[in-house]
Amino acid sequence: MKALVLEKYKELIYKDVPEPEIKSNEVLVKVMACGICGSDVHGFDGSTGRRIPPMIMGHEASGVIIKTGTDVRGWKTGDRVTFDSTVYPLDDWFTLEGSYNLSDNREVLGVSPGTYNRKGAFAEYIAIPQHILYKIPDNVKFEQAAMVEAIAVSLHSINIAGLKPGDRCVVVGAGTIGIFLLKLLKLFGASKIIAIDINPKRLDQAKKAGADHTFVSTEEGLIEKIAALTNNRGADVSFEAVGVTESVNIAIDSLRKGGKALLVGNVAPRVEFPLQKVVTRELKVLGSCGIRGEYDVVLNLLETGKITVDDMISAIAPLSEGARWFNKLYFREEELNKIILVP
Ligand SMILES: [Zn+2]
Repeated sequence: MKALVLEKYKELIYKDVPEPEIKSNEVLVKVMACGICGSDVHGFDGSTGRRIPPMIMGHEASGVIIKTGTDVRGWKTGDRVTFDSTVYPLDDWFTLEGSYNLSDNREVLGVSPGTYNRKGAFAEYIAIPQHILYKIPDNVKFEQAAMVEAIAVSLHSINIAGLKPGDRCVVVGAGTIGIFLLKLLKLFGASKIIAIDINPKRLDQAKKAGADHTFVSTEEGLIEKIAALTNNRGADVSFEAVGVTESVNIAIDSLRKGGKALLVGNVAPRVEFPLQKVVTRELKVLGSCGIRGEYDVVLNLLETGKITVDDMISAIAPLSEGARWFNKLYFREEELNKIILVP
């Protein structure tokens, strides 16, 4: 089969590779769409250490089942599916406790941090264990279903936050995750939504996605302006979708006393942390990792048209041209949202 292989850092080659073999509990999926994630672009140059070549990336995908293993039940050839990006063991303590996204020995599709190398979906076919499959509603296209993973990551952080109707929220970072956070916060009843990004162009998109107010992160008096919009208290909940010192600190500074900061971005391994502010204001700083069953709700929101994704797709391009699109994203030649690669 053909696949887009990261041969070495910054070098993607579209070439023939062996077709995956399926285990008895797996299905073989013909990939119909796979989105390029920001983490793939960051991994592409080796900076995150989570994409060690040679490997096949791609974890935001959808397709059709073309073969089923002997122990597969409830799935058949021809089923249109998408799947979780995490492959988790079913007998792990954390899985049984209800946190499969934190299970030991879990693997992420299209990720290779050195301890494992799980083949991803920038390929014609991919082997997927049946327990991470989800059926795509008939009225949802493959390209749209490839966006479910990113929406589910955003929704997971809202679930961890325990968002209450009327909460005043700040979203730092208006990339894909940030934009879906804005859309979901609107849907889930936030009363005031403030978006912050370093790039003013992203803020136009944030407005369209539901932000009531937007600010460039370098704007003078930013924290005072946020306070003025939140009864001079600060936001109830902030979401950080970048993952560097400056943005983490904005997320923390924008909170009211007792507020919650949800950390979703994780580009930098370490950041400078305002210890005294967090302690003396009794802030809750919570990490949000991946997805924990949010696919079901997201597919439902797509089926019923409650969340839209087409405005977030900048291009649908053949997998054979994947290297060119990675370069466009890497060198930021233009302002792009999601690029979806198709057969
Ligand atoms: Zn991703």
